[in-house]
Amino acid sequence: MNAPGWFEETLHDGMKLALRAETVLYDSQTDYQRIVIFENAQFGRVLMLDNVVQTTEGDEFIYHEMLTHLPILAHGAVRRVLIVGGGDGGMLEETLKHASVERVTMVEIDPGVIELSKTYLPGICGQAFDDPRLDLVIADGKDFVTRCQDRFDLVIVDSTDPIGPGEVLFTQAFYEACKGCLAPGGLLVTQNGVPFLQGDELAGTLRCLRPLFRDAGCYLATVPTYVGGPMAFGWASDDTALRETPIEVLRARYRAAGIETRYYTPEVHRAAFALPGYVARLIEEA
Ligand code: SAM
Repeated sequence: MNAPGWFEETLHDGMKLALRAETVLYDSQTDYQRIVIFENAQFGRVLMLDNVVQTTEGDEFIYHEMLTHLPILAHGAVRRVLIVGGGDGGMLEETLKHASVERVTMVEIDPGVIELSKTYLPGICGQAFDDPRLDLVIADGKDFVTRCQDRFDLVIVDSTDPIGPGEVLFTQAFYEACKGCLAPGGLLVTQNGVPFLQGDELAGTLRCLRPLFRDAGCYLATVPTYVGGPMAFGWASDDTALRETPIEVLRARYRAAGIETRYYTPEVHRAAFALPGYVARLIEEA
């Protein structure tokens, strides 16, 4: 039940986010999900899937910068990247800013999200889908990683929440298969919800990752339209040093990358791993 002219996100029990639609650009159902794209005075164009805000022109930079530049600069030698999900193209666009990245494989289940993002969200995907370094695969991400023989330095899970098609991307089997796709010293990072409201999701992911990786944890960033406080990004690697990459190294790599960012800085990078008590306890108890 939406007030006239408003789209309501009812992801969280007993709480909702409503965004007024100045103009509705698209609203229809694909084989996988309901896709809505509309203009909002505060956040610009907004993409919703199955009535959940996925990304907005106004704050997408925070989420996409923190799930790409942070792991890429922590690692220092990322050449091959796998993005699972990411149909809006924002993650792809940020990843491709690194000249050091040689190939990006993107596995998206719903081609409708890609086509509509190219049409209505060029402010997010830019020309990323035309980049010759891209291998675009239309498939279920869990199926792909289960049979994939390639190896990646970085796997980014840019999925919806664990509902509908995204549910399989929060399972032990999926994370085990992701581990199998990582090159030695590789890194897995995941979209893991807002722990203040979705703590079980983060705890569930860490319960799966802990037995698989020498280092499993999370880092945080606050994205205004992911309501409820800071969002958690799952972090998993067998290289325990990656999380501790010194600030001087991060600064040197950031300068060398020559990338302009609006949220990420080497200082924010290091600070993102400083967890408030409720998150630290949540993952300790996982
Ligand atoms: N920033 C968003 C968030 O934090 O929730 C995610 C954005 S992106 C649009 C999520 C993408 O995951 C969608 O394009 C959706 O189609 C895709 N997706 C969901 N389940 C998938 C699966 N099993 N395999 C591949 N892609 C999937």
